[in-house]
Amino acid sequence: NCPRGTNIAAQTTHHQSDTTCTNSKGPEEVKMSSLAQFGTNHIAKGIGRLTTHVLERGSGSYVYTTEGKKLLDFTMGIGVTNLGHCHPKVTKAAQDQVGKLVHGQVNIAFQEPQLRLIEKLLPIMPDKSLDTFFFWNSGSEAVEASVKLARQATGRQNIIVMQGSYHGRTMGTMAMTRSKTVYSAGFHPLIPGVYASPFPYTHQFHNGNAQDCSDNAIKELEIMLLTQTAPKDTAAIIIETVLGEGGYVPPPPDFLKRVREICDKHGILLILDEVQSGFGRTGKMFAVEHYGVRPDVMVMAKGIANGFPISGIVSRKELMDLQPPGSMGGTYAGNAVACAAGLAVLDAFKEEKVLDNVAARSKQLFDCLHGLQKSEKTGHLIGDVRGLGLMVALEFGGGSKGDNIGGKIGSRVQNKCVEKGMLVLTTSIYDTLRFIPNLLISEEEMSEACEIITESVEEVAREG
Ligand code: PLP
Repeated sequence: NCPRGTNIAAQTTHHQSDTTCTNSKGPEEVKMSSLAQFGTNHIAKGIGRLTTHVLERGSGSYVYTTEGKKLLDFTMGIGVTNLGHCHPKVTKAAQDQVGKLVHGQVNIAFQEPQLRLIEKLLPIMPDKSLDTFFFWNSGSEAVEASVKLARQATGRQNIIVMQGSYHGRTMGTMAMTRSKTVYSAGFHPLIPGVYASPFPYTHQFHNGNAQDCSDNAIKELEIMLLTQTAPKDTAAIIIETVLGEGGYVPPPPDFLKRVREICDKHGILLILDEVQSGFGRTGKMFAVEHYGVRPDVMVMAKGIANGFPISGIVSRKELMDLQPPGSMGGTYAGNAVACAAGLAVLDAFKEEKVLDNVAARSKQLFDCLHGLQKSEKTGHLIGDVRGLGLMVALEFGGGSKGDNIGGKIGSRVQNKCVEKGMLVLTTSIYDTLRFIPNLLISEEEMSEACEIITESVEEVAREG
C-alpha cells in the first residue's frame, strides 16, 4: 500500500508483500521497462490510449505498472472489473474452472458453468418475462445478436438508435453508434436501416428542464416514425438505459416508460443495452430497475464476469426460440471459464453487499463533486454533476454555461489526475469526465480519489 506519489520499487515477484515504496522521482530505483522493450511500436495506432503505462498487475482499486507505479483506477477497464481487479473469489473460480473445462463449444454440447450461470441470472432479471439467454464474447456481438433477434421476430428491418449512443465498433454496431464520428468515419458504407433520434440529454438541452427534454425527445421519436421509418418497417428501438460514451446521462424519469408505450402501440421491440450500466454499476443490478420498464431484450456484458470476456442477451422464450438452430453461436460463445467467473461475481454480489457499498460510496463521490460545484474556487467551471450509483459524470460548462463541444477543461483535469496517480476517463463530445470506480471501493480509497479530483480541478481553475 504505497502512499500517493510514490512508486513500488523493483519487484522480483508478483507478490505485493515483496514491494517497497520509493519516491517517484528516483528513476534509478525503478525498474525501467521502455516501451520499445515490449514492442509497442507493433501495436496498431487505431487504438486510442490514455497513457503509455504498461500494466503488470491489478488488485482491488489499483493497477501496478511494469515501472513500479501504483495507480488508483477510476476506469476499471471502462466499467468491466466492477468488483475490483483480481477479485479473489472470481480469480479462484476461474482457476478452478481452467483445471476442469476451458472450452465447451456451445454448438456441440451444453456446458455446466453456463447452465449454472443462467440459473443464477434468472432470479435477478429486471422482469420475469426475460427468461431465455444466449451468450457471446463482446458487447458488440451481443448488440448485433439483439438486432438479429428483433429482425427475425418482427420481420421488419429498421432500427432506431439514440443520438449519442455507443453500441460497439463492429460493422453492424458502428452504424448504431452515434457518439463520435471517429468510430465510423472512413469505414462506410455501414449497414443501412439505422435511424437516430435524440436522447433526452437534459443538461445540454431545454435549459436543464428534464420534463421539457423528455417531451421533446418523445415528440422527435414520434415524428421519426411518421417521416423516416414507418412502424411497419421498424423492428426495434435500442437505448442505453443510461447513456454511456455519450456522456453518462441518465434519462428523465418518464422517458423509458413513454418509449415503451410507443413500442407497444406499434409492435416495435424495446432493446435496452445494459453493457455499461448493468451488474450493479448504477446501484441496482440493472439500471432499468430505476425506471420500472420491461425491455423485450436486454444486452449484457462488461461487469458480468469482472473482466473475463463474455456477453449475452436475454429475452422471452417465444422470441428467442424463433431463431432456427444453427443461426446463433460462435466458437467461443459463452466460454466456460468466463461463465465460472460470472457465477463467482453473482455470489460476491450477495455475500459482500456490493449494492450497499455502491450507495455509500456514491454519496461520498457526489458530496465531493457537489462541493466543487458550490465552491467559489471551482464552481464557475462546472456545468453539471450527474449519474446513478457509481456511474458518475462531471461536466464542465455546457447548458446555461455556454457551448462546451470539444472543450478542454475535462482533459486538463484528467491529465492532472493521471499525473497524481489516478486513472480517469473523459466521455462524449462535450467537456465531461466520467468516474467508474470499482463497486467495492473503500471509503479511504474514495477519499483519496476525491482529494485528487479536487486538487486537479482547483489547479485548473487557478491556471485559468
Ligand atoms: N454497448 C455499450 C453501452 C458499451 O458501452 C459498449 C462498450 O463500451 C458496447 C456496447 C460494446 O462492447 P464491446 O466493446 O465489448 O464490444
